[in-house]
Amino acid sequence: MMWPILIGFVAVFIILGFLFWYACALPSTQVLGPALVRRPDLGRRVVLTFDDGPSESSTEKILDILRDNKVPAIFFVCGKDAERLPDIVRRAVSEGHTIANHTYSHPFLYFRRRATIADEIDRTQDVLERVTGERPKLFRPPYGGRWFGLYPVLREREMELVLWSDAGYDWKNDTDRIVRDTLKGLKPGSVILLHDSFQKNPADKINQDRTVRALPQIIDGVRKAGFTFVPIQEFLATE
Ligand code: ZN
Repeated sequence: MMWPILIGFVAVFIILGFLFWYACALPSTQVLGPALVRRPDLGRRVVLTFDDGPSESSTEKILDILRDNKVPAIFFVCGKDAERLPDIVRRAVSEGHTIANHTYSHPFLYFRRRATIADEIDRTQDVLERVTGERPKLFRPPYGGRWFGLYPVLREREMELVLWSDAGYDWKNDTDRIVRDTLKGLKPGSVILLHDSFQKNPADKINQDRTVRALPQIIDGVRKAGFTFVPIQEFLATE
């Protein structure tokens, strides 16, 4: 009989798929190694993060809004774009924001060799040191994807892994839903994920405009709910 074998194969496949997703892709799990996801112990403090930039179309608009509202943020930038747009990165630093590493070319890190992961991180560290004078201490993998070789690479460089606990899903949502989903996910010590570019489709200016339009409403909503935006450094210090 073929059926029991076939059902067995499908079951094993589903279980392996679930384990892979749980350990390597789900942002809230730390099976493979430590990561900052949320700091519930810090009460009504939250951190705002932007991935995938810098971009010509929206990073500066976001910086304007952050400056006008006195909100600190952390930008997880891609080396290839920081290299192309160094002035925007320098502006973010001069306005008090934190710059962090989001790889050079934004690959999925699954099934990658340790040397490949190290190269993506080091190339970006080199670019950012040239642009800002400092080597970042924080890393966020593209798509939140983690793989075994990532952890030793980060340990060797004394870098910390930062994921997120709250997303506006701005790669697919319209403006109202970005605001709604972000505020819905708000909890004590949340790390909020938005984007100032979309590496999957950097020409996607429509979605970037949506994030820019959503941001003032998010800032407003977060503050009305009694939360304060703090620099990422407050989330890293152990109590
Ligand atoms: Zn990304």
